[in-house]
Amino acid sequence: MPRRTKILATLGPATDKEGVLDSILGAGVNVVRINFSHGSEQEHLNRVKAVRTWAQANQAYVGVLMDLQGPKIRIATFKNGMKIQLNNGDSFTLDADLGENLGNQHSVGITYKKLPQEVQVGHILLLDDGKIMLEVTDIKDNKINTIVTQGGVLSDKKGINLRGGGLSANALTEKDKKDILIAAKAKADYVALSFPVSGDDVRKTKQLLKQAGCDAGVISKIERAESLVEGVILDIIKESAGIMVARGDLGVEIGDAQLPAQQKRLIKLARSNDRIVITATQMLESMITNPIPTRAEVFDVANAVLDGTDAVMLSAETAAGDFPENAVKTMHNVCLEAEKNPIAKVSYHRLNKTFTYIDETIAMSAMYAANHIGAKVIATLTESGKTAMWMSRISSDIPIVAMSDKISTLRRTTLYRGVHPCFLPTKKDWVKINKSTIKCLQVGGFINDGDIVVLTKGMYKNKSGGTNLMKILTVGDSEY
Ligand code: PGA
Ligand code: MN
Repeated sequence: MPRRTKILATLGPATDKEGVLDSILGAGVNVVRINFSHGSEQEHLNRVKAVRTWAQANQAYVGVLMDLQGPKIRIATFKNGMKIQLNNGDSFTLDADLGENLGNQHSVGITYKKLPQEVQVGHILLLDDGKIMLEVTDIKDNKINTIVTQGGVLSDKKGINLRGGGLSANALTEKDKKDILIAAKAKADYVALSFPVSGDDVRKTKQLLKQAGCDAGVISKIERAESLVEGVILDIIKESAGIMVARGDLGVEIGDAQLPAQQKRLIKLARSNDRIVITATQMLESMITNPIPTRAEVFDVANAVLDGTDAVMLSAETAAGDFPENAVKTMHNVCLEAEKNPIAKVSYHRLNKTFTYIDETIAMSAMYAANHIGAKVIATLTESGKTAMWMSRISSDIPIVAMSDKISTLRRTTLYRGVHPCFLPTKKDWVKINKSTIKCLQVGGFINDGDIVVLTKGMYKNKSGGTNLMKILTVGDSEY
């Protein structure tokens, strides 16, 4: 059984080393993440090119997700790149007037100049993913005076979050707008939007992508406390191709203790609204420096699979870690084992729902039929990939093969749980289409003689949303 849960791996200096990209792709990475927070345009484009070259040489489909930095608020830098030690009870000032490179033991500059106007006395600021906590004691002009409530070592450019959220920094920065043009140039399959607070942020992003001639799907990273409000999250989800449970920043804003419940809620919400969902951050964190994971990390990956996530993500584990290939292999094995659990396979087939579209109805019927007749594979001939996406919202252990002659569609499906992209050359004749579908499935190793295949297709070739047929075939029968 091929793995259903997809692996998303971040590229970086570690994967630029000779042979590493090939080894992680060979170990089963389905989608790569290019992080606009680090690296130059040329580096990004080179990485995308290397991935596409590998995919072509290996007749594989690898998705490319380009992740916009967003309004991540950071401290500026310290004099001579020094690090400072903050102790509980120390006074420390975040000073919007202080220049770059002027940070010292008592104060440091900030990148978001409006911060002093947006915080209040008593607010808790979290630095470096929450490792350091500062309580605001007073605000004088552009200086935020604080007292250290949790000390630690502080160095250049560490992130700042406000406990409880509420900072007004716009989701799309000027840098993001430029990076959207790079994503268009790279023909990205997905673009991730950082820190959206509303559906409007997603709509704006889609508009900019369209203007840039980029048809990438938008993945909204859920990492602000205020985006979790019921009406807001639904609007964001419905506007997006999918969401990312961005546990790093989200955990800092709402407190880590609330994360597991939110992860389960967000995965359920995305799936039930026919959207994809990625679970991200610190999944195998200790593998940045260790060849094996902790047991807690193994459980974290497995639990995300059981929660129903489409993909699990690696960040620094692959981008900057010492054991990128081990990290991918670990995820692969843990996902495969978790998928054997009945929770991952059983579906209630949306029995209480009515369907809106014909192609959606065919997708749901095909899943019902396949799960109940014990089909070996479900093959869906798809223009846009939508039928495959609907199918993959239903839990099953039967592989869903998305078949298309559109490369961009095949690449899109690399994020869909349980869906395997497969190139099907264009054929005009309907009988030949059935035959060549079976042939492709045989070549792909999905089926043997006697296996049952549930096939869906549309009457009109090249028409998106045209799926209106389901056929059940037995491999080896003379009549397809
Ligand atoms: P980042 O997003 O790695 O770009 O910060 C993920 C997260 O916040 O969890
Ligand atoms: Mn983040």
